[in-house]
Order: sequence, then C-alpha cells, then structure tokens
Amino acid sequence: TSFGFQEVKEEEKSKLVGNVFTNVASSYDIMNDVMSGGLHRLWKERLVGKLSPFAGMKHLDVAGGTGDVAFRIYDAVYSVKRRALQKVDEASLEETQIYVCDINPNMLNVGKQRAAERGLRDNKSLVWVEGDAEALSFDDNSMDGYTIAFGIRNVTHIEKALAEAYRVLKRGGRFLCLELSHVEIPVFKNLYDLYSFQVIPNLGELIAGDRESYQYLVESVRRFPPQERFASMIADAGFEKVEYENLVGGVVAIHSAIKL
Ligand code: SAM
Repeated sequence: TSFGFQEVKEEEKSKLVGNVFTNVASSYDIMNDVMSGGLHRLWKERLVGKLSPFAGMKHLDVAGGTGDVAFRIYDAVYSVKRRALQKVDEASLEETQIYVCDINPNMLNVGKQRAAERGLRDNKSLVWVEGDAEALSFDDNSMDGYTIAFGIRNVTHIEKALAEAYRVLKRGGRFLCLELSHVEIPVFKNLYDLYSFQVIPNLGELIAGDRESYQYLVESVRRFPPQERFASMIADAGFEKVEYENLVGGVVAIHSAIKL
C-alpha cells in the first residue's frame, strides 16, 4: 500500500504499535471474561484475599501479564490504609513494592498503560520487570509474597519455577498459585470436558480470531499435574504447609504454601 509502515513518523508509529497491544490485551481480557463467565475476577480476588497483603510488603507477581493481580494487591494494600488510617503510617505504605514479572514485554507494556489509566504511571509501589519465572532476577530471601496466576502451566520446567519462588521468598513468605486444574466430579467432569474441547476453541476463533491458541490452552490444562501431584511438587521445592483449595469443583485451584 502507499501507506507503508516505514513512512509513518516515529511518534505515530508508537501510537499504532500501542493500539495493536491494546487490541491484543482487550481481546485477551474479553476472552477471560467470556470463557470464565466473569469468574476469573472472583478467583483473583480470592487469591489476593488469601495473600493478606500489607503495607510495606515486598511482593512478586510472576507471569503478571497486564497487571490484573498486581492492581488487586495494590488496591488491597491501599484500602488497608483507608480502613485503618491511624495504624498505617505513610512511610511504610510507600515502602510497598509490587513487582510484576512477565516474559512478554508486550503484556507488560499494556500493564504499564493500564497503570497510567489508573493514575499510577510513575507510582513507585509498582515495578514492571521483564523476566523468566525459571530464572528470576531477584535476590534470595527478598520477598514477603509470591503469586502466579494462570502462569505456571505455561512455564517449561515447573520445578525450576518453584525452586525460584522458594529462593526469592523470605522465611515466612507466602507462595500462592492460581491455576486451571482438574475436575473429578462425575457428570460435571463430562460437561466441563464438553465445554473445554467443543466450546472454548470456537469462542477463541469467534472472539480472538485465534482457534489454535485456545486449543493449546485446553490441552495444556489437561497436561498440568492434578492438584495432589502439584501439591507434592511444591513440597519437594522445600515449602511447608502446602494446601490447596478447589474452586468450581476443581476448574481452578489455589495452591498455597509457606517458606519456613
Ligand atoms: N497473571 C495474568 C492473569 O491472570 O491475567 C496473566 C496470565 S497469562 C494466561 C500467562 C502469562 O504468563 C503471559 O503474560 C505470559 O507472557 C507469561 N509467561 C509465560 N511463560 C512465562 C515465564 N516462563 N516466565 C514469566 N512469564 C511467563
């Protein structure tokens, strides 16, 4: 075409690129809402509720994508302030650091854009870091909390990611993982299989124009270790008090543990 990408001025180009990311992210978010019937929001709330965020904490959200979990943690910390204004001093609030780590810079860019929309563009409590769950750039014993939501299923070596989670957490630090898991309830399992294999790829094609990715998603869920097996992998990484909670009969599970 005569309107080649080359000819677009730098400034306009970055605007175009920005729009592409926005489109990717918005179809990503719409898909999450459609596939889960909006439930992923409740699941993330539950995850953050279990974390019990506090002012001044150092937290790492791995595979943080567009900041969905991080913003919830941020809101929880800052609403703790609203609830107990007298008890939380401004200084410790400002020491709060929530690191969002993701391997995909495009996702992080969308997250940063979201932060700006929330008036948090240069907020010092939110730190965006490109990085791999299997080889984190953070110091040993540096984090009070570690979360990973719908992310660990995608890493190549789950054991490595768990070992890294253990390494970066302080003693007493909390590990929390939200992931699509396994349904074992008869009949519900059949319905869920039907939904996964028949409906999800079609939704992916219809809404995101991407059947394959959503077919892959369904297959990766099947390959992911069942709740008990994953719990023992977490224990093998050195964690204590390993527990899990099934939500919607195991469609998702939240695994939690502590580094003692
Ligand atoms: N946590 C977000 C949420 O719940 O909405 C995003 C989940 S998204 C399904 C999975 C994310 O994991 C993607 O943003 C992807 O870039 C990231 N990811 C995949 N492999 C990773 C790795 N090895 N290390 C860090 N992030 C990874």
